[in-house]
Amino acid sequence: MLLPNILLTGTPGVGKTTLGKELASKSGLKYINVGDLAREEQLYDGYDEEYDCPILDEDRVVDELDNQMREGGVIVDYHGCDFFPERWFHIVFVLRTDTNVLYERLETRGYNEKKLTDNIQCEIFQVLYEEATASYKEEIVHQLPSNKPEELENNVDQILKWIEQWIKDHNS
Ligand code: ADP
Ligand code: MG
Repeated sequence: MLLPNILLTGTPGVGKTTLGKELASKSGLKYINVGDLAREEQLYDGYDEEYDCPILDEDRVVDELDNQMREGGVIVDYHGCDFFPERWFHIVFVLRTDTNVLYERLETRGYNEKKLTDNIQCEIFQVLYEEATASYKEEIVHQLPSNKPEELENNVDQILKWIEQWIKDHNS
């Protein structure tokens, strides 16, 4: 059976992991968190002193995931999207969160002042939305509000419906 691949992207804290895990458990699709994968497999290429974090080895991430992505049925979660092959994804969701809400979520995570400011700016300047529309066909890129539990529920329902329809359309 053919199954779609879905990308969930957006600024850290917008709710990608929450949505991705819930979607996976309700749809049976596989959930992959690229940050976790990189940590487990040490897919790094150097260290960023300014941001105090390891630098992702994007080529090795792509190599690591390519077979699974070819098989289909994968939900990918990452706060970046310009290095994935365009052919991987059938649909791309950019989660969006209001500044005040995002600020509280990141503060709860214990981010320092610089990391907080950088991520809030990233959301204000819609960096991930621009990156997504520059990297994928505009008609497959969708923004989703991600501020309240009702929005999460609504996003889950809408995406489950989309998955169901995609499967029907591609397996008849
Ligand atoms: P990301 O994976 O994008 O960094 P998370 O999924 O870890 O974001 O979510 C960050 C925080 O925001 C978590 O505490 C999560 O419970 C909360 N959250 C995510 N989506 C929503 C939503 N739609 N409404 C309320 N809280 C949310
Ligand atoms: Mg996450």
